Amino acid sequence: METLDYIIETIQTLVNIPSPSGFTKKVMEFVREEAEGFGYSCEMSQKGGLISTVEGRERETIGLSAHVDTLGAMVRSIDSNGTLRFTMVGGYTMHSVEGSYCKVHTRDGQVYTGTILIKSSSVHSYDDAKTMERTDRNMLVRIDEMVESREDVLALGIDSGDYISFDAEFEYTKNGFIKSRHLDDKASVAVILGMLKEMSENKLTPKNRIKILISNYEEVGFGASWIPEDIKEILAVDMGAMGDDLNGSEYKVSICAKDSTGPYDYDMTNRLIDLAKENKIDFVVDIFPHYGSDVSAALRGGHDIKGALIGQGVHSSHGMERTHIKGLENTLKLIKAYIELK
Ligand SMILES: [Zn+2]
Repeated sequence: METLDYIIETIQTLVNIPSPSGFTKKVMEFVREEAEGFGYSCEMSQKGGLISTVEGRERETIGLSAHVDTLGAMVRSIDSNGTLRFTMVGGYTMHSVEGSYCKVHTRDGQVYTGTILIKSSSVHSYDDAKTMERTDRNMLVRIDEMVESREDVLALGIDSGDYISFDAEFEYTKNGFIKSRHLDDKASVAVILGMLKEMSENKLTPKNRIKILISNYEEVGFGASWIPEDIKEILAVDMGAMGDDLNGSEYKVSICAKDSTGPYDYDMTNRLIDLAKENKIDFVVDIFPHYGSDVSAALRGGHDIKGALIGQGVHSSHGMERTHIKGLENTLKLIKAYIELK
């Protein structure tokens, strides 16, 4: 299978495995099986992140990261009428999840389907259906069960603290658009797996040893706060922000010079820009005004490292996201140039 076909297929698989931050065991198993299948060894960190090692031609160790956790929610309480109130996992607007199909995952492994709704959910009945403020206090989960009371819901095994995942609604269009929730950052995880596939099939090795960190708490800010001590520099692969005055595009790879956590390493960012130019990769240099990455988490975790951030542009990020196969291809090319495959 061609690498890009594999990447698209893998995105589809990944987005359909529910994995809000901290609920990532199942999705990690999938990533681990893929990486091991290509012949790369894997280990888990205590907090459930995956570290896969690729031996290089030289002894220096660099890091590559992407996160497999997504936005989601958790049951906050059960109302007397049998609907659920929820608390957010990660940062998003209520408008972006209103109407979304979801799943409630009980701690004993049962899964119930439902829908995220505003309390005044029908124009036929509520005067304030249009105007009710979209805040978490005014939102609810309607589960697809015949429940009328809090007790009915408890009897199903649902309780406060159960995870809620949002259905992805993946679609791949004929002209190369990938529409889905959770492209942040499962698209990048798939790109990295695609790269491993290519390396394994063509017996290519990178210049330096690479420790690939697939993190599982990025959306809540402490994804890669710990990284293996031998990593001297790390490249985070995460979605490129788009919109307003930003340069980002679904067809290009963004090289982020600064986000809201601060500037990325000057020399490393310059090197990535040079590599993109030399290899005729379609790229933009950009500023992400409301953004933090696994590099920010690692720096805040106290690591003395150089860090940079790249990724395909994702439209309407943390909402109904979309990217394009060209953006994935440009990101893959830039990672390959960065690790100096031979
Ligand atoms: Zn992300």
